[in-house]
Amino acid sequence: MTAPARVVVLAGGVGGSKFVLGVRDALLTRGIADTTSALTVVANTGDDLWLSGVRLQPDVDSLTYALAGVNDTKRGWGRAGDTERVNAELQQWGAGWPWFTLGDLDLGTHLARTGWLRDGLTPTQVLERMSSRWQLGARLLPMTDTEVDTIVEFSDASRMHFQEWWTRHRASLAPARFNNPNIDRARPAPGVEAAIAEADIVLLAPSNPVVSIGPILAVPGMSDALRQTSAPVVGVSPIIGGRVVRGMADVCLSAIGVHTSAAAVAALYGARSEGGVLDAWLIGEEDLAESSAVEELGIRSVVAPLWMKDAATSAALAEAAISAVSI
Ligand code: GDP
Ligand code: CA
Repeated sequence: MTAPARVVVLAGGVGGSKFVLGVRDALLTRGIADTTSALTVVANTGDDLWLSGVRLQPDVDSLTYALAGVNDTKRGWGRAGDTERVNAELQQWGAGWPWFTLGDLDLGTHLARTGWLRDGLTPTQVLERMSSRWQLGARLLPMTDTEVDTIVEFSDASRMHFQEWWTRHRASLAPARFNNPNIDRARPAPGVEAAIAEADIVLLAPSNPVVSIGPILAVPGMSDALRQTSAPVVGVSPIIGGRVVRGMADVCLSAIGVHTSAAAVAALYGARSEGGVLDAWLIGEEDLAESSAVEELGIRSVVAPLWMKDAATSAALAEAAISAVSI
């Protein structure tokens, strides 16, 4: 098989980052030295927020820090070696959210971003500027330049920002639905549709299907771009053995009436031949019994080890996804 020269990955934060690092490694192993030209990552901006006057982009930052190698791998988010002096001071002021920690180095990122947004740069231009600081080995694009921050709505008509529901309440309050205000008016960020159209393969990272991949696919024009590209579209299940690996994706799936299983998430994305977005779907050996259900959807089912324990297993998973279909 020829080496794919152009790979696009749709990704959320922490799960997305592990997979994207794997893709970058897999491309290097395939002899593609210039991964910056080969790899485009479309980042979820659905869980972005304004807090204490600054713009936070959790998934964009997780991807940036991971690709730069400056992320805190033990804690799982933020910058390695960060301190929290400013956060303590904000708490003394009663500013921000006491349950939401902002590291000092992280705040530097948010201040820089907010300043550039205030200067009139678009989120795409801001991310391009931020990406130039490090050797990321990938081009990072936000899914859209429109603010579409996720709001969780409850059956009693109350609502809160997704980050409050996730971080403060640990997803313990049963959501009625997830809403992305303004998404109807959003468009894919500049460069996203072209990258998908010109790709040799498009990969859906094993990110949260509801609040990471869901908002990306909900940007008007995004699913059409995936349906129209000549590149195969391959997804990786975030559900292994009928369970979420970590996080609270099962609560999110239940809220939209989707069972926590690899086949149910495949059905949510749908077969490209049936108006959905997938050509192939990677499931774990633990979920072998669901293979036929995936195939019945019109999606090729590929069984592979889905656990991303370290760089080697992440790269092996990425390689399995890249070679799932012949291109
Ligand atoms: P977030 O934006 O930081 O919440 O992260 P993502 O949405 O990118 O990823 C969260 C999802 O990654 C969860 O639903 C997990 O099930 C999934 N995940 C985490 N680690 C692994 C792994 O090793 N393998 C697979 N297949 N999925 C994983
Ligand atoms: Ca996220």
